Amino acid sequence: MTQEIPEIQQRWSWLEIDLSAIRHNVEDARAQLQPGTKLLAVVKADGYGHGAVECARASLEAGADYLGVATAPEAFKLREAGITDVPLMIISQPPAETAPLLVKHQVMPAVYDPKFALAYGAAAEAAGVKAPYHMAVNTGMNRIGVRWTDVVDFQKAVAGCDALQLVGTFTHFATADCPATAEFETQVARFQQAIAALREAGVNPGIVHAANSASIWRYPQVHFDMVRLGISLYGFMACPEIADIADLQLAMTVHARITDTRMVEPGDGVSYGLHYNPTEYERVCTVPLGYADGLRRGLSSNTSFIWNGRLCRQVGNICMDQCMFVVDIRPDENGEVANPQVGDEVLIVGKQGDAEVTITEMAQKLGSNDHEIAIGFAQRMPRVFV
Ligand SMILES: *Cc1c(COP(=O)(O)O)cnc(C)c1O
Repeated sequence: MTQEIPEIQQRWSWLEIDLSAIRHNVEDARAQLQPGTKLLAVVKADGYGHGAVECARASLEAGADYLGVATAPEAFKLREAGITDVPLMIISQPPAETAPLLVKHQVMPAVYDPKFALAYGAAAEAAGVKAPYHMAVNTGMNRIGVRWTDVVDFQKAVAGCDALQLVGTFTHFATADCPATAEFETQVARFQQAIAALREAGVNPGIVHAANSASIWRYPQVHFDMVRLGISLYGFMACPEIADIADLQLAMTVHARITDTRMVEPGDGVSYGLHYNPTEYERVCTVPLGYADGLRRGLSSNTSFIWNGRLCRQVGNICMDQCMFVVDIRPDENGEVANPQVGDEVLIVGKQGDAEVTITEMAQKLGSNDHEIAIGFAQRMPRVFV
């Protein structure tokens, strides 16, 4: 029974993911690249909340060459879903315990620790195969990687393991999405220095890559052999500077249906703490999503929903699983009064006519970023792919 009734009928809140937007965004990124430059679609964190398997497939259909995830389990999930014939890398270094599984599923790790490299190489040798990897280079973000001055030493440290194959060398920028900074230029120079040192030492760095979403549109000079498209794959402007250059389509909208509605009067209060106090008769409606669904409590009385093409104020504290909003019941120019009903669809994020609510404005209100808010919405709500 639980399988026969779709989840969005079991619970009246859901995400819609527009896979044609994903394909469009891959194509828009591609249009920035020189012929031959590869595009890696970053589908970590379940595709930034949009569904890793579906977004990976859509990206590949649109011409992505490579997939990237953050963890070993994320990588194995893609392989087990049948995405087997495409290069797949983990953009961090997983625990050495994963080595046999990396070999089995043909997943390339990022590598910066010789001990990990040798464990991975040994697992590949035991299976009679090669151990391809991408070397992570720390050029200034100070998160992971071999220090840019030490890349040749690292290669010497692992040279004894024949199975290991350096198929790529990459770094990650700390400030590609910030207003132009000297630090960005410093990272580029250090990365180029590392690549040059490898070549001088007779080591082929393989696929050289550095660019994240912001740099794809902003800094063509750092495209090298491959770019890594993350947040903008899902339609978000990685930074204001690319807004005029990039032509992106948002893929995620958030939907709900009204579960209850009532009139409230002056003197009443709404939601925990009764902090919302109407000063006149108002129509309050309830939708079944809350902060356990990623609608952050910090947005209480500070966001709007869209019902029937119009913006409606969310009021009162957002609860764990539900929240309330007000529909304006003042008669319109034709004397008609709005009459919301249980079952009516409400947009929590999306656009209808002139009314629009975006994840970006929510993120700004919360001092967060698009990534965190989008991922949050995927915590519990089912996804519908359109
Ligand atoms: C997350 C991540 C990306 C994608 O970055 P966006 O800014 O989302 O495009 C690229 N490379 C690495 C190493 C990452 O961790």
